[in-house]
Amino acid sequence: MTIRYIDPVFRPPSEARSLILQVTNGCSWCRCTYCDMYTQPQKRFSIKPPEEVLREIEWAGQRYHGIRRVFLADGDATALSTRRLLDILHAIRTHLPQVTRVASYCSPRNIVGKSDEDLKKLYAAGLKLVYVGAESGDDMVLRCIDKGETRQQTITALNRLADTGIRRSIMIINGLAGARFSEQHAIHSAQLANESQPDYLATLVINLPHGDARFQRGFDGQYESLSQKGLFAELHQFMQALELKSSLFRSDHASNQLVLKGVLNKDKDKLLAQIQHAINQPEHADLRPVWIRPF
Ligand code: SF4
Repeated sequence: MTIRYIDPVFRPPSEARSLILQVTNGCSWCRCTYCDMYTQPQKRFSIKPPEEVLREIEWAGQRYHGIRRVFLADGDATALSTRRLLDILHAIRTHLPQVTRVASYCSPRNIVGKSDEDLKKLYAAGLKLVYVGAESGDDMVLRCIDKGETRQQTITALNRLADTGIRRSIMIINGLAGARFSEQHAIHSAQLANESQPDYLATLVINLPHGDARFQRGFDGQYESLSQKGLFAELHQFMQALELKSSLFRSDHASNQLVLKGVLNKDKDKLLAQIQHAINQPEHADLRPVWIRPF
């Protein structure tokens, strides 16, 4: 007996010490034009048979003691029905009683079919944190990348989650709109964050390791990638427009050259100064060497 994984398996950096349970395979949407995470044939979306998931949880409970965090993979495990998620969460509570946090990636569309009562039950059963790839707060950009969500749908889902106590970590992609739409992407993404007040906010940098043909089609071939300075300028504009009460901010994903950490808005001036310094004097800024980045 072991836990069965279908590779590749992805998880957020902050789940590095979590037990990964692959309760679904792939992504139920799998259309975003910048995303190649689940495009291989073996990653076509499917749901792991419930009895197999329950056996894996029981097995992990017998073998591993002291597991405190569990991450439900893959791309949007919250696509599962509330009933199935509750079965999984209850099994975790029974067989892994020391777990204090279960987390998952979550698309706003996963939330639409769940009532507020459902979300409260999921929180009470242990689902404490979801990672939402908002990517942009600009509807035109969201259409270009075929995200299948609007800014308002994302804000509504995030605020419904907040009302239940489930913490929200949202991701915005720096450079996603290219040079032409950079400003509206920065401003509207900040507005999305302001209207949803996430517990955690992270920025990644766009990267297209398998080429940009599919991505370019969404922009009618007009996408022009930003220079390093352009990426920093967009990040500065985004940060400047943020009005957050208490969100932990991170730009420490491997795709970021400039690593930033702080609590917003408390540390906003300090972070803005760091970005401005990277714009003005990149040679003296504390940037990650390009060779460290995996792309
Ligand atoms: S919803 Fe997430 S995992 Fe699915 S295709 Fe879009 S970015 Fe990729």
